Amino acid sequence: MTTDPVPDLLSRASEALMARFSTLPAFEPATAGADDPARMAEVLQAVTDRLGDNFPYFHPLYAGQMLKPPHPVARAAYALAMTINPNNHALDGGRASSAMEMEAVAEIAGMFGWKDAYLGHLTSSGTIANLEALWVAGQVAPGKRIVGSEQAHYTHQRISGVLRLDYTSVESDGRGRMNMDALESELRNGNVGTVVATLGTTAIGAVDPLDEILALQGKYGFRIHVDAAYGGYFKLIEEALDVPARRAFGAIAKADSIVVDPHKHGLQPYGCGCVLFRDPGVGRFYKHDSPYTYFTSKELHLGEISLECSRAGAAAVALWATQRMLPLVPGGEFAEGLRQGREAALELDGWLRNQSRFEALAGGRPELDIVVWKVADGDAARASKAANDIFLASALRGLHLALVQLPLIWFQSCENDLAEPKASVTCLRSVLMKPEHKVWIATICAMLQSASEAVERG
Ligand SMILES: *Cc1c(COP(=O)(O)O)cnc(C)c1O
Repeated sequence: MTTDPVPDLLSRASEALMARFSTLPAFEPATAGADDPARMAEVLQAVTDRLGDNFPYFHPLYAGQMLKPPHPVARAAYALAMTINPNNHALDGGRASSAMEMEAVAEIAGMFGWKDAYLGHLTSSGTIANLEALWVAGQVAPGKRIVGSEQAHYTHQRISGVLRLDYTSVESDGRGRMNMDALESELRNGNVGTVVATLGTTAIGAVDPLDEILALQGKYGFRIHVDAAYGGYFKLIEEALDVPARRAFGAIAKADSIVVDPHKHGLQPYGCGCVLFRDPGVGRFYKHDSPYTYFTSKELHLGEISLECSRAGAAAVALWATQRMLPLVPGGEFAEGLRQGREAALELDGWLRNQSRFEALAGGRPELDIVVWKVADGDAARASKAANDIFLASALRGLHLALVQLPLIWFQSCENDLAEPKASVTCLRSVLMKPEHKVWIATICAMLQSASEAVERG
């Protein structure tokens, strides 16, 4: 493996940063134990031992869940910010990092086509970002329902419960996208305040037809919240997506609110979600007075437009640095990385379709960079058991995949099983988020084949 550039970058940068404060009178830090490097080295050795007990999330052979290593510049910038440890709750606690947050968020808003009038900020996660979006939705349309598809992230139903908003789940189609007939019949039932459109479902990366949902908006009148926690950055390569997904991403600027997770595809350490509102006027719902926090601040600051109070200024610094390194532009290096992951996914899907042992989704190829497949066996219980066995046999060989429960009717072989439309089957799943997956996909296929043959031999 190549040497890690972060320690060297960091030591030079932190020296330069501390030089900015060199006119302060010297003081002896009173942090107990901080003057004992040998003891700290011992503790870090213990930490190393504990952390060694992990799947290798940073390696291309980790191709299971949504995990992608942060960019080295994000790690360095985050650690550098730790010397200051700013709090983006209010300008007083995070002067520079609050400004950096606003700039970084403006770049994300710009990616979706929102330039001047919008409101947005970082959050500690996609869950909190979605919570804010649904909270605003409930303020705008009190007493009205939230509707999402059955493939929407489970957090929407749970958040609605927390907010005491009625939540209704509508069917998805055979590709995991929101079923438009099911949505329209729910809209006819009335009292729908907000429709949650997921652009990139967590299970399979399905893209709800936002353009078609917008077409219903004129007739029925409702807010649209786009949950693009996973898929948002695919906006940058929309022209490389298949037509339905391309149309959905093409319509994203017409949403009322958007959530995207820089800590998923945006090369950030965990603790970085983002929520955006098209109408900056929703800021009025956040308005409050907190005399002890704000009395020295003159401008409107992030603490006034966020439900969370203390937030990691370091997260904003890391994001700002990453976007300076890799601007969010179509055709740029960052977009290229997304394209490589998607190409890897298409390659794996194509390979699976040529294997008699496996069965890909009946409805077509992956929309983003997540591939799911089942073991070809007419008996769902046997197929599930075999998927589990292959998952374990792959891990033994060093290839880390994931498992997911999917509706059996998404696969061809279930034609005889329509008696139980809600039946599910355990499938294998691979999230190919890393650019390196493109060159590793042949190896991944070979390892999967070997694991599958070993399971078949018993
Ligand atoms: C990951 C995800 C969430 C939840 O976000 P966290 O950052 O894990 O809290 C919500 N919606 C979708 C579509 C997701 O993929």
